[in-house]
Amino acid sequence: MKIFTPLFISIFQSDNLNFYRSLTQNRMNIGVLALQGAFIEHIGILKKLGSAAEEIRLPEQLKDVDGLIIPGGESTTIIKLLKEYQLFHPLKEMGGNGFPIWGTCAGMICLAASVTNSQEVDMETLKLIDIEARRNAFGRQVDSFEVDLDIPALGNAPFHAVFIRAPYIDHAGPKVEVLSRLDNGTIVAARQNNILVTSFHPELTDDHRFHEYFLDIAAAASEIYSMR
Ligand code: GLN
Repeated sequence: MKIFTPLFISIFQSDNLNFYRSLTQNRMNIGVLALQGAFIEHIGILKKLGSAAEEIRLPEQLKDVDGLIIPGGESTTIIKLLKEYQLFHPLKEMGGNGFPIWGTCAGMICLAASVTNSQEVDMETLKLIDIEARRNAFGRQVDSFEVDLDIPALGNAPFHAVFIRAPYIDHAGPKVEVLSRLDNGTIVAARQNNILVTSFHPELTDDHRFHEYFLDIAAAASEIYSMR
């Protein structure tokens, strides 16, 4: 099993980012949790970007991948299936050791330290990022909406974000880097070391910058691993 270390040096400041990307991204193999939800769209984008992508359903498949995406869907179902498929504890351990994981929408809830507004009492999550996620946070009136977000980590152009019965981040701990907020200050994207979360669905648009950003995280983590 690969052991990943947290990312201490940022390659994102490098002027040679694009050159670095072309060298590394197409060597990545990214797993997409394929138990429930919108996994096919993520796989399509990863392949478009030149990375290999694998549907993950079994614990032993985690050995071969440089990072994992937990897609949108229904978080209570995903967590139940993670346990049934014996993936919950290996993922918790790997994520705690620096293995890159990106949760979109329901995936964000699965990764959160705590969850509010859940019908489930004491919903057990992977607790890999120090955020409090509020489920179905936007209420019935605005179940789904789209908005252009400012995400400095992705560059100057706004990112068109699709929210579907989305959670948002009620509270982020001191080690969490906030990547984006709505105009009213609500946090909708964040990162802690190699754990990335977005309230919205970057796999449903043609803008692939978030997938590239995650591939950069995975490439840097595997680079550090191979230097050890
Ligand atoms: N409402 C879902 C949940 O709470 C998330 C919706 C989504 O992933 N699009 O799990």
